[in-house]
Amino acid sequence: TAFTNPPLDPVLLENIALAHYSTPTPVQKYSIPIVAANRDLMACAQTGSGKTGGFLFPILSASFTSGPRAPPVDPNMGYSRTRKAYPTALILAPTRELVSQIHDEARKFAYRSWVRPAVVYGGADINQQLRLIERGCDLLSATPGRLVDLIERGRISLSNISYLVLDEADRMLDMGFEPQIRRIVQGEDMPGVQDRQTLMFSATFPRDIQVLARDFLKDYVFLSV
Ligand code: AMP
Repeated sequence: TAFTNPPLDPVLLENIALAHYSTPTPVQKYSIPIVAANRDLMACAQTGSGKTGGFLFPILSASFTSGPRAPPVDPNMGYSRTRKAYPTALILAPTRELVSQIHDEARKFAYRSWVRPAVVYGGADINQQLRLIERGCDLLSATPGRLVDLIERGRISLSNISYLVLDEADRMLDMGFEPQIRRIVQGEDMPGVQDRQTLMFSATFPRDIQVLARDFLKDYVFLSV
C-alpha cells in the first residue's frame, strides 16, 4: 500500500490492504505523520474526508508496536466484584451513529492485534454496554453523556489514557455537550495535557472551538483540508 510515510505497523498495513484502501486521502496523508510525531493536532476536515483513518491509523500503529499497558493495581481488588476498564485511547463523538461508525472502523483495523475496541452511547441499555466493556476495552469510542455516567459509576477510569480524540467537535458543542466534555477532559482522572496526545477534528473553526483548542491542546499543529 501507499501508507508508507511514516511506515505503519505491518499488521495494520495488512488490515488496511484487506479494507482495499490503496492510497491515503488528503487528510490522512497530512495527519498520520503529525500524529506519529507525537504532536497535538487541530484538523478542520469534513465527514467523508477519511478523517477516521487519519486518527485511527497512527494511534493503532503505535499501540500495536508498543504493546498493552498494564492497568494500575486496583486497591479494591479482591473486595470489589465489578471490574473497571482502563482504556488507553478515547474517542469522543456527538452521536450514536458516529461512535458506531468509528467503532466499526476500529474493529476492522485492530483485527489480529491486542487492541480491544469498545463503544458506549446514550439511549441504549447501559447494563449490556457494561458487560461488553468488562470483557476488555483499550480503544473506547463514546458519546460524552454516557461516558460521564460510566465514569461516575466507577466503571471506567481514564487514568491510562495516552490518546484523546475529539471528533466533530463543532457538532458536540452545537448539541450542548460542552459541560460533559469539560468534565471528561479536565476531570482529575484524565492525564494532563502534557501527559497525553490530543487530537481535535471539526468541520469549522469558530471562536468556541478555538477556545476548546486553547484549553485542551498543547503547541498544536493546525491542519485544514
Ligand atoms: P470518514 O470521513 O472517515 O467517515 O471516511 C469516509 C469513507 O471513506 C468511509 O467509508 C471510509 O471507509 C472511506 N475511506 C477512508 N479512507 C480511505 C482510503 N484511504 N481509501 C479508500 N477509502 C477510504
